[in-house]
Amino acid sequence: MTTFREVDLNCPCCGNRFESSTWGSTNTLGQETTDLYQYARGYQPLPLYIHTCDRCGYTGYRDDFQETEISEKVKELIKEKLTPLAMDEEAFPGQRYECAAWIAEWREIPSLAIGNLYLRAAYCCCVYDENREDESRYRRQAIKHFENAIQKKEVPEDQIAAYTYLIGELYRRVGERENAGVWFDQVPELVGQDPEKEWLVKAANQQKTDPKEFFDRFE
Ligand SMILES: [Zn+2]
Repeated sequence: MTTFREVDLNCPCCGNRFESSTWGSTNTLGQETTDLYQYARGYQPLPLYIHTCDRCGYTGYRDDFQETEISEKVKELIKEKLTPLAMDEEAFPGQRYECAAWIAEWREIPSLAIGNLYLRAAYCCCVYDENREDESRYRRQAIKHFENAIQKKEVPEDQIAAYTYLIGELYRRVGERENAGVWFDQVPELVGQDPEKEWLVKAANQQKTDPKEFFDRFE
């Protein structure tokens, strides 16, 4: 089961010191979705990975609160776009991941990390059954950033096949079957003879021909 604990955080944007909830322990005992979200059994801990300063709206992972250098330009953008939203820890978690993705874009961190923030925003919509329109929008943003990441060679070699599959599945989930097929079709060649990645070939084939929302465990 998932347990909570409190952490003290310093906001690198406005200097506010505040308490936030994080996870103490969690598990991977639930099902896995075909867009690679691993459910925990019981409570889903997605909101516990992300923190929001209740004064200025700065939002990010715990590590993002260790940052010391937030440029004036980024601080201005936070003040202009995030502070008015006055998000707190109760705010819808998908939206908070989106805010973290905006900050990541303003800070020009690698596309792969930005794509993963949008992917988590989409997971939140799915897991908590929230706004389905936002879900599609987040998936499209994740696709864009993952495609950039592959093009810019930011994706580690041994993860390229998995991200290629994932882009295909994200296209499928926003209803673009043709684009999904283009990415699924690249998976077998990228996997080659690697037995540990064989499941990606099966997954790509399944999602192209007889798609499912959750994986049955492949043998
Ligand atoms: Zn702050």
